[in-house]
Amino acid sequence: MRTLRLVLAIPLFFLTFMLFGSCAVNPVTGQSQLMLVSEQEEIAMGRELYPNALWGGEGGGGEYRDDRLKTYLKGVVVNIHKVSHRPNLPVEFAIQDSSVPNAWAIPGYVVMTRGLLANLNSEAEFVYVMGHEMGHVSARHSASQMSHSMVTQVLLGGAGIALAGSDYSDAALTLGALGGSLLLLKYSRSDELEADRLGVQYMTRLGYDPRNALNAQRNIENISNAYIKSIGQEPGEQSFFQDLLSTHPRTSVRIEEMQNIINATPRQPIRGDGTNRQQFQSATADIRKMHSIYTNYYDKGVRALKKDNLPEAASYAQKALAQDQKRAPFHALNGFIMLKKKNYSEAERSFQQALRIDPNYQPAVRGIGAKSYFQGRYTESIQYLRRSLTLFPEDLPSFYFLGMSYYRTKSYKNAIAYLKPFADAQPKHPRVHGILGMCYEGVGDVNSAYAEHVKQSQIDPKSDVGKASVERSKALRLKYGR
Ligand SMILES: [Zn+2]
Repeated sequence: MRTLRLVLAIPLFFLTFMLFGSCAVNPVTGQSQLMLVSEQEEIAMGRELYPNALWGGEGGGGEYRDDRLKTYLKGVVVNIHKVSHRPNLPVEFAIQDSSVPNAWAIPGYVVMTRGLLANLNSEAEFVYVMGHEMGHVSARHSASQMSHSMVTQVLLGGAGIALAGSDYSDAALTLGALGGSLLLLKYSRSDELEADRLGVQYMTRLGYDPRNALNAQRNIENISNAYIKSIGQEPGEQSFFQDLLSTHPRTSVRIEEMQNIINATPRQPIRGDGTNRQQFQSATADIRKMHSIYTNYYDKGVRALKKDNLPEAASYAQKALAQDQKRAPFHALNGFIMLKKKNYSEAERSFQQALRIDPNYQPAVRGIGAKSYFQGRYTESIQYLRRSLTLFPEDLPSFYFLGMSYYRTKSYKNAIAYLKPFADAQPKHPRVHGILGMCYEGVGDVNSAYAEHVKQSQIDPKSDVGKASVERSKALRLKYGR
């Protein structure tokens, strides 16, 4: 079980650190420093976190498919990687299919969202942002991040966030993860400054005009503010963006610091116009157009679906599909709407259409799994939900429906293996503890069964599951004299 393996892995890293605290040379500073994790461990953690960061959190979305654009940008990223301080690390690049403007890097992976990419002006701006993110990896900021907040956030992403409604079906019907902002790595102020310096250094080495770092900085602030407004919040309002903006200091301060960094960076000959704006603009023309379809229709449809406004969601999904038939998310959105309407044949059709376009589009795989579960076809739901977890190992709704499918087929040991991590992440879920109680009774673990029934009785004693738990905890108390 991947989730459990990760949970166990973290304390071990800290333990190793506390007991032995290995020393290594920092690739950027050249000075030796305490290292929490070895390079091999960093790479392994990066590999494990990657799919969860790509699918999970507010950004979510998986990978935006555009082979030509990806090839072009990957070429640029590889060039940055070669002049970075750790060119020996593996490097993969992906465009994350999210309208949230963001970029992030973990060892082995560099990612920019559609929402940021579609709004940048030039290749030089792209190089600065990617160079900044890769700078975090070069200076091993991300290694310590991964062992601290990020991993905690991935694992506890669901904790404290109650499901929107009381009906368990909510779990299946969200498009993204239930988790929090796991892809927002929180770096310290000095880490940010160092990454800025490295970003400028790398772009200069590659022959870009470093003044474009200033443009990128101003641009990002505008893009973020525009996005926040577009989702109906004022900049600075309580949201996960506050994190983004608080760790990324206000532009005015940053511009001044950036100017100092540029002045202190050794000059290099500038190639061409120093921006490569033209090539970047023509390579990103399609994604810009597509991005406006997402923000005008798809994103609004997703928000309407989350608010359970099905007619509005359906209208936006249709508008998105009328603009473009070749995007898996548009079909999947329609699938989730149909699923909520209990129109299973239409849901299946839409999900299958999404999978014909992109066989690894995880929400569609999970959607078919949930649909099969609702239909009582447990062999099929188990097959799809297991596949869903190979694509997105921390997907909580998949845990829930897979566990429930095993419960319905009286395979209690398997049910516990999936429902327990779900319950840990969603401790206030209205049904799961009672179901877990039944499962533990099924495998003869009376103590755990009792504990879960008691929890269920506290959270919701009035539902069918709750009533059963009240009964069962009484019966167990009588029988075993608790
Ligand atoms: Zn940063």
